[in-house]
Amino acid sequence: MKQLLAFIGFLFFIQGNGFTQKLYLLKPDRVFDGTAIHEGWSVLVEGEKIIAVGEPKNVEEAAQKLQTSGKPAPQIIDLKGCTLLPGFIEGHSHLFLHPYNETTWDDQVLKEARSLRTVRATLHAKQTLMAGFTTVRDLGTEGAEFDDVGLKQAINQGIIPGPRMVIATKALIATGSYAPKGFSPDIEVPQGAEEADGHDRLIQAVRRQIGKGADVVKIYADYRWGLMGDARPTFLVDEIKLIVETARSSGRPTIAHAGSTEGMRRAILGGCETLEHGDAGTPEIFSLMHDKGVALCPTLAAGDAVSQYRGWKKGVEPEPERIKNKRVTFKQALDAGVTICFGGDVGVFSHGDNAREMEMMVDYGMKPLDVLRSATSVNANVFHLSQLGNVKTNFWADLVAVEGRPEERISDVRKIKFVMKNGEIFRNEPILSPKSSK
Ligand SMILES: [Zn+2]
Repeated sequence: MKQLLAFIGFLFFIQGNGFTQKLYLLKPDRVFDGTAIHEGWSVLVEGEKIIAVGEPKNVEEAAQKLQTSGKPAPQIIDLKGCTLLPGFIEGHSHLFLHPYNETTWDDQVLKEARSLRTVRATLHAKQTLMAGFTTVRDLGTEGAEFDDVGLKQAINQGIIPGPRMVIATKALIATGSYAPKGFSPDIEVPQGAEEADGHDRLIQAVRRQIGKGADVVKIYADYRWGLMGDARPTFLVDEIKLIVETARSSGRPTIAHAGSTEGMRRAILGGCETLEHGDAGTPEIFSLMHDKGVALCPTLAAGDAVSQYRGWKKGVEPEPERIKNKRVTFKQALDAGVTICFGGDVGVFSHGDNAREMEMMVDYGMKPLDVLRSATSVNANVFHLSQLGNVKTNFWADLVAVEGRPEERISDVRKIKFVMKNGEIFRNEPILSPKSSK
């Protein structure tokens, strides 16, 4: 009976708590606020927002002030040995794809039921969030129609755990340019995105995608199409301008898959805000990107993964041409001062392994601190997410804690101990090894 009463009391406690906002006082060893490291800082979260951040004395004073106004004492989250950072923002994901060494892209598009792809996507969403990526810019369902709209709703309604999603829905391609290959021209093959060309059809397609839920319009400015093996431009500059203008008039940005030099040039001149991949960029192209304020999302990990799927034994065999070139062009982009987004094209490789791109950015020449900025405040800024990517007062409480010092050793971003999204805790693990605390 006593136990039953205690249980009923507990139920009332839970219910009662629903009326007051939850308060958490986070005490890591240090805070990376999106720009710099601050030793010893604490963070106070109320409900969905960060309400205080800074020296422990000031943050605790803020908590005390709340208590004198009748609010409960905050729950203390001890994150000793950890660095607290803004939730990471993945800049280029495909939650509806899984690694190509499991199933080729062609077979995923042609042979997998959309229901199967959706079930996988729900697991991918969870893996992504648990790895500390609290937001994704998901750049196309790759043949799975508008299914990212429902996935995003399921996450936002709390039905499944997952990151905040910025979605592109079907994405846009010039007719015939992005589809499974090797078929007779007499067969109609489903495309990996929506085909549209010319004035009226492009305007309609952009508006349809936005109407169904697209936050961003993605175009393929080039692709390997027809019988030629290399990437060639698709849309004309005027077509891209039309897409950009149509999207912009509704407040949405346009971004472009662009791997070839000419595809990149057209996407920049057409007004796209970010270029994805950019493998054949040149110093001239990168300087044009810099001057026009176009960001590069280099997707280093996707190239690394695909090269290995094709047989390259990394660490044993010399780097293939594609990898060598990518190192050169990435360096050129850095030298030109191009804004670098963090985005790995995850889906080509495993969801939850998003950190692979961060490690590669360091390997290819970026400083760890710049990579952390890229994956937080820079992505937030480039993607127009005005209250994310920073640990600042009044920003959404999307926070992760990792054991160690990722600004010195980037792979520490994998040592996730704590994940909070929108003030809700999704992961909170005790720190077992005291070695990293000083
Ligand atoms: Zn992609």
